[in-house]
Amino acid sequence: MKYIFVTGGVVSSLGKGLTAAALGTLLENRGLKVVLQKFDPYLNVDPGTMSPYQHGEVYVLEDGAETDLDLGHYERFTSARLTRKNNLTSGQIYESVLAKERRGDYLGKTVQVIPHVTDEIKQRIRQIGQFHECDVVITEIGGTTGDIEGLPFLEAIRQFALEVGPDNTLFVHVTLVPFIKAAGELKSKPTQQSVAKLREIGITPSILICRTEHSIDRELRLKLSMFCNVTPEAVIEEKDVANTIYEVPLMLQREKLDELVAKHLKLDLPPADMTAWRTFVDRIITPKHHVRIGVVGKYMEIRDAYKSIYEALTHAGAANDAGIEVVPVDAEDIEDLGAGKFLTGLDGILVPGGFGVRGVEGKILAARFARTQKKPYLGLCLGLQIAAVDFARDVLGLAKAHSTEFDSETPEPVISMLDEQKQVVKKGGTMRLGAQICHLVAGTKAREAYGSDRAVERHRHRYEFNNQYRDKMVEHGMVVAGTTADQKLVEIIELADHPWYVACQFHPEFQSKPNKPHPLFSGFVRAAIAAREKK
Ligand code: GLN
Repeated sequence: MKYIFVTGGVVSSLGKGLTAAALGTLLENRGLKVVLQKFDPYLNVDPGTMSPYQHGEVYVLEDGAETDLDLGHYERFTSARLTRKNNLTSGQIYESVLAKERRGDYLGKTVQVIPHVTDEIKQRIRQIGQFHECDVVITEIGGTTGDIEGLPFLEAIRQFALEVGPDNTLFVHVTLVPFIKAAGELKSKPTQQSVAKLREIGITPSILICRTEHSIDRELRLKLSMFCNVTPEAVIEEKDVANTIYEVPLMLQREKLDELVAKHLKLDLPPADMTAWRTFVDRIITPKHHVRIGVVGKYMEIRDAYKSIYEALTHAGAANDAGIEVVPVDAEDIEDLGAGKFLTGLDGILVPGGFGVRGVEGKILAARFARTQKKPYLGLCLGLQIAAVDFARDVLGLAKAHSTEFDSETPEPVISMLDEQKQVVKKGGTMRLGAQICHLVAGTKAREAYGSDRAVERHRHRYEFNNQYRDKMVEHGMVVAGTTADQKLVEIIELADHPWYVACQFHPEFQSKPNKPHPLFSGFVRAAIAAREKK
């Protein structure tokens, strides 16, 4: 088994996760079985309790793990199905080490970062490789070189490399080569210092991936090579992409990154066949249609807050030969100025998941606008719940209808908590989480879109559609298009008398992939194209 470690230098937000994932794509297309893993140095056990302002989206895996959004990149860029073992935080390590200490497993020893914490990390690297029976494990170390928090991880991978030998390990450092406007020059010094910092702790990267706005010329390449102790061809340029993040694997292939990696790891491999990937990218860059989709949320200024949704829209767009223009709409603005002002010119409206009461009334108005104006609508999780609230208020005439999440005293709790959730005291990892079977009802749009009577979809919520209102809503034109396998809980609702008004209690965005768009996103985009053409 081969191990690649990806570290980051100079600044955060370099797209290290994306770069690691893109390397995964290339190696997979060279015929290797690849799995990616992320180490996060923070002390939270998982990001499930963090605000999107802190962390961006929480990505949910099949097994219900709430993980870093980089795992979304990993699942979209490779075929590996990940589990909670693929995202390790310092919080998890300390939780485990302290539990062992309390059990007396350390037999009277002093418990220390080295070796106890580092052993725990090394074990996790081995475990991942064995569990997935893969050829290559790519481990991304979160944070930036020089962070105090990251040191145990770096020490662990240094030891690990020594144990498995130089032919089986590779250190890749993703770094920033900034352009200084006043000097009109790209600068190598931050990278030199970041690499020096790594070498101080015994890690010598063999490949530098340089994030840059401008091309790196030969002179700079030689300088980086000389001062960072890598060969000139191991200085890989990764410029900001012009159109889409899906260009990154193609760009890194042009830079011969995969060839270099294969050489370092002594792997004799055929070249990567990127034909299908290239076709997908071309479809994103030169689409026939163009649609404008309003995403009505409350973290509109944070690009990462709805990451998987934006990606799923891109995939669905490519599949339907449509460029997607996402129009961010702040739900609170709708509360102030009305839905018409923001949503009138759009071809489709999407209300994503969310927690907390801020912006909820604006989202309800957005769902109402889509329903009454017959605009294609896709509601995800909270986007289903607020659609049900709108329907209850406006169609059933239950003016005080609400979700008990936002009004615990509402006389018409159309969305409420299941009894099992009411017992929950601890917040972390206790929602209805992970993949569950959804039964799709015959004769519905959802069933037609899926082309199947059964789907498996990922969940992350506490509240549910209240069955007390089910019959009444159905009498008035709501369609229950999907349920849990036992048909007890409502999973998808639609409107019969509407071109495309579909909302689901789960998160389809976590399963959309470049050449495999999610059926509900694809159906939604198709409806948006039709709506635009009608105009
Ligand atoms: N806040 C809602 C719930 O917990 C919706 C969650 C979501 O949209 N992910 O049920």
